[in-house]
Amino acid sequence: MSEAESIGSSNKVLIGKIAGSSSVLQVEYQRAIQGTDELIRTPNEIEFVAPGFVDVQVNGFAGVDYNDPSASREAIARSIRTMFGTGVTRFFPTVITGSRERMMGALQNLAAAKEEFCRNNMPEGDAIEAFHVEGPNISPEDGPRGAHPIEHIRPPDIEEFKRWQEAANGDVRLVTVSPEWPGIVSYIGHVVRSAAVASIGHTKATSEQIRAALDAGASMSTHLGNAAHPLLPKTQNYIFDQLAADGLAASFIVDGIHIPPPFFHAAVRAKGIERSVLITDAVMPAMCSPGPYKLGQVDVELRANGSVVMHGTTRLAGSALRMDQAVGNAVRLGGVSLRDALVMASTNPARVTRIAGRQRGLAPGEKADFVRFSWDESAQLLTVRETVVAGSTVYRA
Ligand SMILES: [Zn+2]
Repeated sequence: MSEAESIGSSNKVLIGKIAGSSSVLQVEYQRAIQGTDELIRTPNEIEFVAPGFVDVQVNGFAGVDYNDPSASREAIARSIRTMFGTGVTRFFPTVITGSRERMMGALQNLAAAKEEFCRNNMPEGDAIEAFHVEGPNISPEDGPRGAHPIEHIRPPDIEEFKRWQEAANGDVRLVTVSPEWPGIVSYIGHVVRSAAVASIGHTKATSEQIRAALDAGASMSTHLGNAAHPLLPKTQNYIFDQLAADGLAASFIVDGIHIPPPFFHAAVRAKGIERSVLITDAVMPAMCSPGPYKLGQVDVELRANGSVVMHGTTRLAGSALRMDQAVGNAVRLGGVSLRDALVMASTNPARVTRIAGRQRGLAPGEKADFVRFSWDESAQLLTVRETVVAGSTVYRA
């Protein structure tokens, strides 16, 4: 529905319970929320409603690798429609370390897909909010490097960042770097001045390097606790340095595989709910059968236990996590309330990555992105019933 067509038509209405309160909200909306009312008389059968989920790290989904410069528009659109079933309304396709040509090709391909979807008024165009470039300026060392191919890891280069932005129509809004590189301070400064967020990840940086990155404007940690050495000095290390930095939000992969529940529990207490963000870090095999898949130029494998590893190893290479499961896991494994888990999956990622019209939750003027869901309290399981993107229902169970 275009802006023009909606003028004069009556508002759509959605009613839902608000997690963590006794409120039942009636939301009137078109492409944006027109108004909200707390109901006194409420219907009997009623589900929860929350702002639609925002996932700022998705490498691929439902059989499609967003790092593949030849991924077709049809396949990308199909993968996004599958993602809508998990309550995600906006996401950042994530391009990881690869050759200069591959990374540029992937960004150009994704940006062209977004452009075409938007031109055709498809909600899939709204859903591609912006892009995350993770690498290639990360640590070359085994452990911190994770599954990123060592031959393509390289120092920060402002000229290359400018070319990414040209390829992506200026929509690269999140860049994951390691502060251990010389020249990183001016690089982060440039990223931040161009309205993108610099996030620390895949790093073995010293305390001084992390402090310098913060001073330069870095404001986030990428999947904190992962892509690290298996053994670290017990109290003086880059994980504690980031946990203790109040100027850094942090994203977490809560799939029950990447980080042990006590780490997540303690990390959320250190960061506070307001600085904690749930991501999936999903790759191509998410919502597929076990078997061999691709992550950019890396061969990966979805195993029967749900982990995604580099082919023939046990080294994790992204996840097969879905955001609806991540919210349930945060409650079940991390001991946070449903209300807080929803915030960590919706308004927090929007605030941290400065998504316009998504930072205030279910408030008039905000974009009409919702997830309506049921919640099984005993199993701590969330089931999506309806997903709405910019006022259009894109999924209904
Ligand atoms: Zn990573």
